[in-house]
Amino acid sequence: MSYSTGALENSPEPLVFDVVVVGAGFAGLYMLHKLRELGFTVRVLEAASGVGGTWFHNRYPGARCDIESLDYSYSFSEELQQEWSWSERYASQPEILRYIDHVAERFDLLRDVQLNTVVANAEFEEHTARWSVTTEEGERYSARFCIMATGVLSAAQVPRLAGLEEYTGRWYHTGAWPHERPDFTGMRVGVIGTGSSGTQLIPLVAQQAKELVVFQRTANYCMPAQNRPLDANLEGEWKTHYPERRAFARASSFGHNQVSNDKKGTEVSPLERREELERRWDLGGLYMMRAFKDIMTNADVNREAIEFVHEKIDGIVNDPQTAEALKPKDLFIGTKRLCSGTDYYETFNRQNVRLVDVKSDPIKRVTPTGLQTEGETFALDAIIFATGFDAMTGSLLRINPTGRGGVKLSERWADGPRSYLGLSISGFPNMFVIAGAGSPSVFSNMVTSIEQHVEWIATCLLHLERNGAACIEATPEAEEGWVQHVNELADKTLYRHSKNTWFYGANTPGKPVVFMPYVGGVGRYSQNISSIAAKNYEGFSIQERVDSSL
Ligand code: FAD
Ligand code: NAP
Repeated sequence: MSYSTGALENSPEPLVFDVVVVGAGFAGLYMLHKLRELGFTVRVLEAASGVGGTWFHNRYPGARCDIESLDYSYSFSEELQQEWSWSERYASQPEILRYIDHVAERFDLLRDVQLNTVVANAEFEEHTARWSVTTEEGERYSARFCIMATGVLSAAQVPRLAGLEEYTGRWYHTGAWPHERPDFTGMRVGVIGTGSSGTQLIPLVAQQAKELVVFQRTANYCMPAQNRPLDANLEGEWKTHYPERRAFARASSFGHNQVSNDKKGTEVSPLERREELERRWDLGGLYMMRAFKDIMTNADVNREAIEFVHEKIDGIVNDPQTAEALKPKDLFIGTKRLCSGTDYYETFNRQNVRLVDVKSDPIKRVTPTGLQTEGETFALDAIIFATGFDAMTGSLLRINPTGRGGVKLSERWADGPRSYLGLSISGFPNMFVIAGAGSPSVFSNMVTSIEQHVEWIATCLLHLERNGAACIEATPEAEEGWVQHVNELADKTLYRHSKNTWFYGANTPGKPVVFMPYVGGVGRYSQNISSIAAKNYEGFSIQERVDSSL
């Protein structure tokens, strides 16, 4: 595989393209493919030394998808989906990365991807109606359109713990895992964080480490993934019916084919509810989210699922005190992103694993040889931060683009992210965000949502081109209406009771606490954005070209 490098093309003059795309994960790569097909010149700028985004960066032991691999894959090419074979029900990180590399090669994408290139600045120049994009190395690009495919879980976050600089052991963050896999054999290891990354990683590190201390601040619900090798008959059946399967996913609420129960919990007997919860536990992973139609809106139904999972924890974990500490308190199930793991609770029965509750005994500092809580000192040879991301907005705000009138995005978003459709931000003409805050994004199979956005943006750009338009921009009124709609939908759910989550930005110090994703579902969202496009991009203002050089 050959990659182009930034340094070779360093030039005092800006390089000129129709479109600059930032990020080469699932979103950036498909955006490139789609726009190139339509005849646009495109340059993708990617900070990492390889493509794949999430699946390039998150190489920690146990990293894997929790949407079935047959669903969590591109649908845009029938040949691709027929020729690729997944080995497991839920694909592991190495396999997803192999898949993305295969896609990049198969569609000859790499020649327009510039790796090792961090975008430092992006500015809309009003006099030319073009985006000026600058990299950390000082290279400049000029493009009519700037598409932010920077990811919503891509700004890894290490807590600012006193003493970390003096720590003499090794430390890691799950979202920036080294390529040479660390070996924890014989080591005393501490893991901070028990979200999706932590719960996947802990059982595997426990198998290697001499001692493992898990520092838990907030317990979350971890469903058994029930991962297994992919059944050849099932794969064959999917491949025969891929078009219908993909159409179903796109019209569904969550962008995949997982079975949802159409019945409300309140409509069925206690026995039927119990049986359904058991069935969901056996189906594994995120299936619990779809146990009943009202599980995310009715507190009593949700509480029954909570009690069910608490009983499961009691049944698995031998030490009653540890079992109690592992049970989430005051947290509706699913309102913090549900985790999907293998042998997570079982791992706490191992002699070499200890759970430390850092809510009651907070972490005070890192010492040169370990970690200190208010009440205890821990000697650790390695510390793993499974502490998550500045989610949804972090990577975009690290670039902090400048829109009309020299206004920075951080100023526009001082009270939290605002967008029209999660795609476009008023005051930032010709800039699009893929799967951003205000779209179904993290509440869906993200590959489905990414494809939906890429196709919408590509159609929009073609429309502008054909109509000789210079600029498209969300109107402030349309943006305000959409922000209200997103909040109104969220307010009908149980999410509003659990604000201590990254869905609200609460995991990032200083970030406004605002609910960010759209909960209305992929299918409904798709209808919205399609009808807006059909109504000549209702809610956007489109300006005609005044100068042929634009
Ligand atoms: P990313 O894959 O995040 O790619 C963004 C790219 O932009 C990165 O390569 C980054 O380096 C680059 N970038 C950012 N800023 C800059 C800059 N300033 N300059 C240059 N480049 C930049 N989703 C699901 O639907 N199902 C799952 O099971 C699932 N599992 C996940 C597991 C993990 C561990 C994580 C972290 C996320 C998971 N997600 C899952 C969400 C996942 O992020 C998306 O599914 C998807 O991979 C996002 O693709 P993307 O291209 O939008 O963003
Ligand atoms: P996360 O869900 O945000 O979890 C971070 C964990 O670190 C939380 O337990 C948090 O506790 C803890 N933490 C953060 N700062 C801390 C501190 N200073 N002291 C102590 N504890 C601290 O992050 P993640 O696990 O990386 O997952 C992020 C998202 O990525 C997921 O929600 C999911 O969408 C995606 N993902 C998916 C999968 C998958 O299975 N497919 C795997 C990994 C990630 P608090 O809760 O108290 O803040």
